[in-house]
Amino acid sequence: MRYFPLFADLQGRRVLVVGGGEVAERKVRLLRDAGASVAVVAREVRAESLAPHWIAREFDESQLDGATLVVAATDDPALNERVATTARARHLLCNVVDDAERSSFIVPAIVDRSPLVIAISSGGAAPVLARLARERIETLFDESVGALAKLLQAWRARIKGALPDVTERRRFYERLVRGRVADLVRRRQGDAAEAELERSLVAGDAPARGSVVLVGAGPGDPGLLTLRAVRALQEADVILHDRLVSEQVLALARRDATRVPVGKAARAHSVNQDRIHELMLEHARAGRRVVRLKGGDPFVFGRGGEELEVLARHGIPFEVVPGITAALACGAYAGVPLTHRDYAQSLRIITAHCGDSAAALDWASLAQPRQTLALYMGVAALGTVGEQLLAHGRDPGTPVAVIENGSRPDQRVTLATLDSLDDLARCGDIQSPALLIVGEVAALAHSLHWFGEPPRHWQVLRRVA
Ligand code: SAH
Repeated sequence: MRYFPLFADLQGRRVLVVGGGEVAERKVRLLRDAGASVAVVAREVRAESLAPHWIAREFDESQLDGATLVVAATDDPALNERVATTARARHLLCNVVDDAERSSFIVPAIVDRSPLVIAISSGGAAPVLARLARERIETLFDESVGALAKLLQAWRARIKGALPDVTERRRFYERLVRGRVADLVRRRQGDAAEAELERSLVAGDAPARGSVVLVGAGPGDPGLLTLRAVRALQEADVILHDRLVSEQVLALARRDATRVPVGKAARAHSVNQDRIHELMLEHARAGRRVVRLKGGDPFVFGRGGEELEVLARHGIPFEVVPGITAALACGAYAGVPLTHRDYAQSLRIITAHCGDSAAALDWASLAQPRQTLALYMGVAALGTVGEQLLAHGRDPGTPVAVIENGSRPDQRVTLATLDSLDDLARCGDIQSPALLIVGEVAALAHSLHWFGEPPRHWQVLRRVA
């Protein structure tokens, strides 16, 4: 290891920064956050925030008197060199920005969840890797970690008093940061977190209470997961996932998490809903962190509501992480803006997966112009949908787009018009999962498509065939 890592206490200490540009400004901001008393030397200062610290135009040695650290951040290499040499002669640590050779200390990339701060450095060898590491770590720790660290800090003395044995105390802390207290902090329920901490301290336990996180896995492209979803996957002991959830998404889960496929493949109901409820309760009661992973968003045709009702009834703590629902993903990846100033002022999300649900829809209102319809689970009902909309007066020339496997490598987009939907349904070989978009905006896929193969045009194809 070439560099010795350390966190320096700069409260009230003088730090000399030579330079008045953007780079200097960034350094000054960090130093000020750390409580340092910053003095800036620069021919001119560009940023207003530097002005209160500006002590001189030209660097001279006396400015180093009483300094603890020195930063050279000018765009004049000779001046930087002079600052560094002068500092070294006085045994002062000096950083020359972006110049590890001339520096006697370097500044790491940081992930700031104060009071928890993670510092990363490649020792100047490959800053790009340090940045990559920083990005990864950013995704692993959400903002609530800072609040949790503050809570632990505030309770440190009491915990030490209550648990004088070091080993016992360490175990207590370990359960604490993985258990209910941390969950409550993440939910921004600070008072409840504190009450729970107190309770476990008095009871002398901090049981790793099981919980369920209902997570939206999006439509397939793992890049469409939220950071929160990735974190939940990384913390999971058990993952109960729908079949629609893609392998690439599951690959982001903690390696030793148990995966249980429970969802329904189209038509073939593999594990019924009651069994899913049982599994969630069983694992959570055993103290495990359960992720219930659903395609798209859990609250859009995902039965997420029912599952939460069961959890609530049985007193199991839960969280919900929204996902990108199929309508949004398919719109985006097919080049179909779901609303558009010129064509559609509203979007309706509907399903018609069986005769009953199709009959229950208000077709007269759905047939109104200037709105976009996004139809889920409609492969078997495509013909019916076209028929009903036509019968209720929607223009036969209304564009439609059918998006199969939206956002996945095998995405296929078919463009047609309302009056050819029946034909498309019969001869188009449309496979589930597929989303139907009805409305003028659908035609925009013709010019705005950017992902996967260009759309096929159904009328044209029929003419050729
Ligand atoms: N909760 C999910 C929807 C579940 S219902 C969500 O928010 O997206 C299942 C239906 O969603 C499928 O029949 C299909 O209509 C649609 N769907 C899900 N993923 C899809 C995808 N990748 N491409 C196209 N349609 C999809």
